[in-house]
Amino acid sequence: MTAPPPESSDVATAAPSAAPAARDAAPTHELRTDPHLGTRVHVVGARQQRPNLPSDGCPFCVGGREAPDPYDVHWFPNRWPAMPGERCEVILYTSDHDAHLWSLGAAGVRRVIDLWAERTRVLGARDDVDLVLVFENRGAEVGATISHPHGQIYAYDHVPERPARRFAAGWRPDPDPGRRLVARVGEWTCTVPHAPSFPVELSVAASEPIGDLVAADDEQRDTLAQLLVDVLARLDQLYDRPMPYMLWLNQRPSDGSSPDAWFNIEIVSPWRDAGVQRFIAAAEVACQEYFNPVVPEELAERLRRLPGAG
Ligand SMILES: [Zn+2]
Repeated sequence: MTAPPPESSDVATAAPSAAPAARDAAPTHELRTDPHLGTRVHVVGARQQRPNLPSDGCPFCVGGREAPDPYDVHWFPNRWPAMPGERCEVILYTSDHDAHLWSLGAAGVRRVIDLWAERTRVLGARDDVDLVLVFENRGAEVGATISHPHGQIYAYDHVPERPARRFAAGWRPDPDPGRRLVARVGEWTCTVPHAPSFPVELSVAASEPIGDLVAADDEQRDTLAQLLVDVLARLDQLYDRPMPYMLWLNQRPSDGSSPDAWFNIEIVSPWRDAGVQRFIAAAEVACQEYFNPVVPEELAERLRRLPGAG
């Protein structure tokens, strides 16, 4: 399949007179590589003009700028893409502004999973897409500018360094998590990793290899939905308030470079206590060695004791 015509997002997001001026300007994007570390940096100066908050109400509520018609789940091209070429999409989980992903219940999360899978299939089929990253930033503490439940998708024209390292290392779920097990539904388990760099960090994977969501069958999608509802509910119960988190799907690259990749989901939060953010500070940034004040086994035990979806 070839890429859709570049005009397609302009049609989909054709903004009324309130269209931001930057939308009409040529997108500014340059992928640079640090000559010593190989770190890739997308220089995207145009995104500085992106509004922090829309001034005309929630754009994701029904009737809003991005969701004119009633919907259960909905996707559209990101009006402020971080990369050119129709690579950035927004996924609306529900039309209910005040919902959380877990409060949609298993049936609601299943609809989200199906949309994640469908967009992964469509974007991954493009010749100019090597890796489809589905992700969510939840909460202002991790940069979400709109509280309406939603996630995003970036479709990269290369396999970025971190997923590439995980694929090259043959990532597999921990066969014996022991006290770090949080929850299990069907063949899916949620564990706290052995060496998490975030104070709250969870890993979700199936016991049998599945490359990506596209390959997950009906039952696997249903049980994954149940597990996500349970685990995300536990996160909000841990501190008795919505926990800011980042969630992303590690899916098999669509360029065929890692056919044995094992699909998994990572969920991390910067909170080390209720409302207390742990900052990644100088020594950690400098050396990329982390100091985690939360003991993984104790975190797992606290999460296990909460009611979850039960
Ligand atoms: Zn809304």
